[in-house]
Amino acid sequence: MASAAGKVVSGLRTFRPLLSGSIKKNAAFCFPIAQKCQSRNFSSSQICMDKKVALVTGSTSGIGLGVAHGLAQKGCNVIITGFGEEDVIKAIKDEFKEKYQSQCEYIPADLTRASEVERMVRDVKDFFPGGVDILVNNAGFQHVSPVESFPNDKWEALLSVLLTAPFLFIKNILPDMRAKKWGRIVNIASVHGVRASPNKAAYVAAKHGIVGLTKVVALETASSGVTCNAICPGFVDTPILQGQVQTLADKESLSYQEAKGKFLAAYHPSREAVGINELAEFVNFVCSENANQLTGASIVVDGGWTAK
Ligand code: NAD
Repeated sequence: MASAAGKVVSGLRTFRPLLSGSIKKNAAFCFPIAQKCQSRNFSSSQICMDKKVALVTGSTSGIGLGVAHGLAQKGCNVIITGFGEEDVIKAIKDEFKEKYQSQCEYIPADLTRASEVERMVRDVKDFFPGGVDILVNNAGFQHVSPVESFPNDKWEALLSVLLTAPFLFIKNILPDMRAKKWGRIVNIASVHGVRASPNKAAYVAAKHGIVGLTKVVALETASSGVTCNAICPGFVDTPILQGQVQTLADKESLSYQEAKGKFLAAYHPSREAVGINELAEFVNFVCSENANQLTGASIVVDGGWTAK
């Protein structure tokens, strides 16, 4: 989520135009049509995620939408949330229904407001009385500015969405997971949870914060059947990256591919962006029985960025 200094890349007031475009692009997700778990031979070390209830925040766009597709493909019922026009939300729900035959519900909430997070958790029970089995804290946006001029309201909004909302979701959902003796909490952090970049004070602080929160929750839930992990992507091929590449291409009169190569080479030794589908598959693994002992981890998926 890097961007040109001083600009809101994907902020509260700028989502809608970006969102509609991104949904159209993301409509090309290539997850195969769901096969029902009954038709598969699951070994004892695997889990059939059929009918598990997955809440993915920020799932109207980008990574969250891809993760929601991945979980639905595994048979999960999915709760979508995030900003989006009515027709865009309807298109997402229709696509899920058509592709996966699992239940897909949309529950709106502005995650800058604690009361909306708590209300949303209550609303989930209207659709799924047993509550959430898989929580993916993914919603986010970016604002870049030198620290001396970083606007207080942007600091507060970023901390609310990236750190306080995940804390409140975990706090309110964990009791049901404990009761069921099974749960998966996946926090989509960032390389900026373990590395800093200039002009991203709030984002980096919040992402480091969620890495810490992940460890605390993992310790408190150890041996309860619940795991809590953070995934720390480098640059992911979302509309946010595409916009920045286009800006560089325009500025330096490069082709899109040349600009993308130059942009990524500055960060990823692999020179490739992380694919949304790759992250979705990784979340599926973290949610599987094969990852029972994976907890408290902060896993970078960054083309080698943090190995430098
Ligand atoms: P995106 O802009 O495509 O999607 C963000 C989602 O969060 C949208 O659904 C949006 O509606 C939702 N959201 C934002 N503010 C909200 C609010 N106040 N209330 C409710 N929903 C809100 O972004 P993305 O690139 O898919 O990023 C998703 C997550 O991945 C973020 O946490 C981001 O920090 C992280 N991440 C992204 C990248 C990247 O390169 N794109 C890299 C590392 C980490």
